[in-house]
Amino acid sequence: MTETPTGAPLRLFNSLTRQIEPFVPITPGHVRVYSCGPTVYNYAHLGNLRAYVFTDTLRRTLLWKGYEVTHIINITDVGHLTSDADAGDDKMEAAAKAQAKSIWDIAAHYTAAFKQNIGDLNIIEPAKWSVATDHIGDMLTYAERIAPEHCYQLESGLYFDSTSVPDYGALAGGRDDAAHARIEAVEGKRHPSDFAIWRRSAPGELRQMEWDSPWGKGAPGWHLECSVMSMKYLGEQFDIHTGGIDHREIHHPNEIAQNQAYTGTAKTGANWWMHNNFLVDRGGKMSKSKGGFTTLFSLIDRGVHPLAYRLLCLSAHYRSELEFSPETLMAALTRLKRMIMAVEGLKARAEETAWQSQDRAALVTGLHPKLQPLLEQFDAALSDDLMVPRALPLLEEALSMKKVPVDDKLRLAAAMDLALGLKLLTISRADLRFRPKDAILSEEEIEAELDRRQTARVAKDFATSDAIRDALAVKGVEVMDGDPLRWEWAVVLD
Ligand code: AMP
Ligand code: ZN
Repeated sequence: MTETPTGAPLRLFNSLTRQIEPFVPITPGHVRVYSCGPTVYNYAHLGNLRAYVFTDTLRRTLLWKGYEVTHIINITDVGHLTSDADAGDDKMEAAAKAQAKSIWDIAAHYTAAFKQNIGDLNIIEPAKWSVATDHIGDMLTYAERIAPEHCYQLESGLYFDSTSVPDYGALAGGRDDAAHARIEAVEGKRHPSDFAIWRRSAPGELRQMEWDSPWGKGAPGWHLECSVMSMKYLGEQFDIHTGGIDHREIHHPNEIAQNQAYTGTAKTGANWWMHNNFLVDRGGKMSKSKGGFTTLFSLIDRGVHPLAYRLLCLSAHYRSELEFSPETLMAALTRLKRMIMAVEGLKARAEETAWQSQDRAALVTGLHPKLQPLLEQFDAALSDDLMVPRALPLLEEALSMKKVPVDDKLRLAAAMDLALGLKLLTISRADLRFRPKDAILSEEEIEAELDRRQTARVAKDFATSDAIRDALAVKGVEVMDGDPLRWEWAVVLD
């Protein structure tokens, strides 16, 4: 592994300073990253998954730059309440109650589903999926160390005194007691932004998950787990901590406060805190009640390839909001189709197999001089706080460039795809077109109808041809006459 990263200097936005800063890892050549993981009480929705496409882009960029990466993602299977502060029910307990199952079954089911989403989106697995309930002992040890100087006990558990560390809430842009006060208050809390380290089971409360502690039988607070597990696997101060933008307000300031209490320093625990912005759904299409675009599974069931969603995520910068709608999704699918078809065309004409390498340096060695600037601009875009939307058109330009050897174009596309993770070199046009789960017609039936329609058109029997088109539309298939992609038909999303 090189100690000098390749290409343009990497610069990343740091939520701590609200600035783009030159990235320098603590250990030369090696980057340690922790990502707040899913709470496994339900399927991840598409917005949640945007957070992991973002961390994957970060990880792939670090690999592209020549760094070794140790990446940890946690699985929250205890402690996360329906509000990010200390109000509401434990999400896991509530789901178990609602579905009349054990929490362990709920956690196992939704963890497996989440990992399937991760695989379908071609997200590289972390070095470790760190499960919260496997670390209760570590959490107790950690809590016992910070308790004497930083915590106080109430009937409902052990609370962190947010005034006991300097500059509490700096990450959120300053302490905002008013915002915390708006959240349902816990009886006896000294300051609105104080938070639970350990929540004691209420007398008579039947909890499926509870452990003994010096502060009574109960369960850890949600914020504790990330401080404990990130420190255990990555050290007291590591390079990058990620999460959705909502975590910048409560969860991460609380982690930072715990970290400072633990080390007795002003260090926050990570040099960079990075946050992805939200996937937003102004049309309400993502909501479960309106027909089920909520999860990646529902999207696949409707005949959309999951990598189209990955491309949709890549088409916006991670710090911008991303609008979700059937139109933006279908546009991403079309864009992916074009790329895949271009690569397929090149593969059919290729003379060598060098593009099959997974090694960026090997792929781009001796690249044709006309492609070299595209490679440099691509690297510059990634290095500029992961500007993938600027990088994507460079790939498209490379694929369609004239008077350049096919093999060189393929090698460059393969190298770029190491950072993009779109499987451009391995999936085919046929892979992209799969049928919705509730499809009325099979692919063969559609093709047969299209043949019948073609015969009618040749015979200038337009009444029959239109009738076939209308009948297909009723069955969810849109006929695309003269489609420049020669795709002929598409799934109708409403
Ligand atoms: P949770 O499973 O609720 O703990 O959330 C998992 C991750 O998804 C966290 O990093 C959240 O910040 C992130 N997240 C939640 N909603 C969205 C959204 N609509 N868009 C992007 N990220 C989100
Ligand atoms: Zn976390």
